[in-house]
Amino acid sequence: MRSYPAIYFDGLTSTLHEVTIRLLPGRIVISNAGGNSLDEWHYSRLRRFNAPARLLRLGLRKNDRLSRLDIADQDAAREIGHACPEIDRSGAGARAERKRTIAWTFAATFSLVLSVMDGIPAIADRLVPAVPPVMEQRLSNAADGRIRSMFAGRNDDRPFECGIGTAEAPGQAAFEKLIEKLKAGADFKLPLKVVVIRRHVTNAVTLPGHIYVFQGLIDEARNPDELAGVITHELGHLANRDAIRSLLQATGLSFVFGSLLGDFVGGGATVFAAKIVSKLAFSRRREAEADDYAVRAMVALKANPRAFANFMERVAGARNRGSIFIAHPATPDRVAHINAITRSYHSGVISLLEDSEWAALKEVCSGYR
Ligand SMILES: [Zn+2]
Repeated sequence: MRSYPAIYFDGLTSTLHEVTIRLLPGRIVISNAGGNSLDEWHYSRLRRFNAPARLLRLGLRKNDRLSRLDIADQDAAREIGHACPEIDRSGAGARAERKRTIAWTFAATFSLVLSVMDGIPAIADRLVPAVPPVMEQRLSNAADGRIRSMFAGRNDDRPFECGIGTAEAPGQAAFEKLIEKLKAGADFKLPLKVVVIRRHVTNAVTLPGHIYVFQGLIDEARNPDELAGVITHELGHLANRDAIRSLLQATGLSFVFGSLLGDFVGGGATVFAAKIVSKLAFSRRREAEADDYAVRAMVALKANPRAFANFMERVAGARNRGSIFIAHPATPDRVAHINAITRSYHSGVISLLEDSEWAALKEVCSGYR
């Protein structure tokens, strides 16, 4: 067994770690200078990234964290190549990746020429339909990892997600039932994970493939329809692809290009980290479209389409810190708009959850104190 030096990126921060790798049967063990093991990579999951000459750049397949290992030592590279013939030594994968990069660069340059007067938002707009699903999935996973590393574990050892363990299971079941109903009502078919976050903030954050509902939002909601209004509004942002667009805008596209170049943890990810939460406010038009989407879904479900407007008005009036309705612009206009378009509708003839389910949902974060 031999040890070699390497550079390791954990995929969550852009910090470069000088590490020692040990090549064991079936796996690579990555240790820091102090000799503590940081990670263990099995040969069967390795993938090779595009890298400068004489550098072996490895990552893991189907990895949410996008961690990376740069190996300059030629003996180590050779040994890994022998141990793991699946690693693409012919370079076919790298060539395909390069081709894709060229295609993207071309598309971006073309968009730049078209939209030089409009700046980044227009470029992002044009690129959104071209983002391949697999790329969107990678963005989505990376964003999820980022959110978790930002919120998890800060002065709080309770689980980041609510709905964990037996005490919170009934609330989680009610929450999942509500989400399924809302997706059906909205005819929403994209891949989606909705989680409740254990934080006392009246907010929801929407990223590609994910909606994070903060505990504070559930605490403030007085009935299932108010919560459903917020969630269907967020579904609207996803259905209209606002989240991916906003992500592309916020990162100035560098994240996407960084990922194509195998440089996920370089500059792009850093920009991404700084802006991900602060810059996710959508434009007025996007908000109005998501509101319309929410109203349509709520009407289709025979739930109360005005509940969302009531909720918005009440919470914005209370000037909650970190409220979704502060980040979301033009609350009074939106309330008026929703009330105007729903004037002729019922105020809900079917309840989305049984009273007992709603009571359980209100307690979805109460299992850990
Ligand atoms: Zn919104």
